[in-house]
Amino acid sequence: MAELHEECGVFGIYDPEGNPAGTTYYALVALQHRGQEGCGIAVNRDREIYQYKDQGLVNEVFNEEILSKLKGRMAIGHVRYSTAGGKTRENVQPLVLRYIKGTLAISHNGNITNTAEIKHELEHNGAIFQTTSDTEVIAYLIARERITSTSIEEAVKRAMKRLKGAFSLLVMSPNKLIAARDPWGFRPLSLGKRDNAVIFASETCAFDAIDAEFVRDIRPGEIITLEDGEMRSDTELCGGKSSLCIFEHIYFARPDSIIENEVVHECRKRAGAFLAEQAPVDADIVIGVPDSGLSAAQGYSEYSGIPQDTGFIKNKYIARTFIKPTQDSRETAVKMKLNVLKNVVRGKRVIMVDDSIVRGTTSGRIVKMLRDAGAKEVHVRISSPAFTWPCFFGTDVPSRDQLIANKLSVKETADYINADSLEYLSLENLHKIAPNSTCSFCDGCFTGNYPIDVSHLL
Ligand code: SF4
Repeated sequence: MAELHEECGVFGIYDPEGNPAGTTYYALVALQHRGQEGCGIAVNRDREIYQYKDQGLVNEVFNEEILSKLKGRMAIGHVRYSTAGGKTRENVQPLVLRYIKGTLAISHNGNITNTAEIKHELEHNGAIFQTTSDTEVIAYLIARERITSTSIEEAVKRAMKRLKGAFSLLVMSPNKLIAARDPWGFRPLSLGKRDNAVIFASETCAFDAIDAEFVRDIRPGEIITLEDGEMRSDTELCGGKSSLCIFEHIYFARPDSIIENEVVHECRKRAGAFLAEQAPVDADIVIGVPDSGLSAAQGYSEYSGIPQDTGFIKNKYIARTFIKPTQDSRETAVKMKLNVLKNVVRGKRVIMVDDSIVRGTTSGRIVKMLRDAGAKEVHVRISSPAFTWPCFFGTDVPSRDQLIANKLSVKETADYINADSLEYLSLENLHKIAPNSTCSFCDGCFTGNYPIDVSHLL
């Protein structure tokens, strides 16, 4: 149960015969795990862009009446978690921008590492920013490039050449829907279809939710333009070394999603199996910490032969609306999210599989819950290596001084969280969890080797 948050989720659809806003609503519900702070949908009707967005979960923000007013032939949507920019309503996306060539709507997932530099330059040329999000910087850059470009997709490409960092982008103009993925491919972005509709989504689980077919991943650096139902792909910026965030496979993505030819659930199972090989231990049961620890626990169990059981029940309804307790009752916060099945763990030697340890406090509380429930031994197995560096590409892996692995050894961490033993997935095995993948990976938060120079941010 990582203390970390997903970045954002984007969705776009060209569907002149259907109900793009309605479809986007269902797809955003399927992508809700990527952001629970706010969401929005923008539609294109007769070359005009209309939108509705607010803070809250998708089913809190939208209702039938609102959706029925969002008629159009194409739509883009967004679910947000703020890793850059504040938690204000203005930062909720899609961002709609009026400029000299018309109107643009933009949904963006990821963090840009040279925002400050570009923003400074734009401000010196008269730009006034209304939000604190990277997305507005991207939007301004595209709008500025559009003035001297022959087309909006050309402007997107020129803007992409300036941008460093993670961005899976959807841009809707009066006539076109454009999907673009940064040349490193940090964040996933997929292409799907349903009858005559063309669809883009952060994860393929959104296609399943709307009965669409997954066609392929958008290539790192690729720009796909849809105009009057015709699709064009520009691959001029493709071909560099890709760096998909490997933590998508460990934690961020939904287990039923397919990213770069790998089913996320299978990657997690492999991580669990590698852990069992790396760090075997005599025990009675294997339990996973929901949600992402469950697939890894299955892998551990299958490899080790130690039966897997359900040790925790997760409260699914807690999310954003939960009033967070004060510091001294944080234990209550964990208990509100997770409950131990006491009869399962009582008197047992338990292997607890979780996706990560960040600061160590949450892990300590979960181990305590197992002990309070009567577990005889608790052996913690983590399906990722130890975090030792922050992330600058759209997740909230925090600064080095907050990461427990930079303060304590593995043995000391085990003592700190009161586990009988602790083992992280080795770096070597991390890179074996997705053997069928069509891309390379970023592992910066585990190694400090970032695919982009971030020395100005460290
Ligand atoms: S630094 Fe870590 S969390 Fe950030 S993109 Fe790279 S692998 Fe993912």
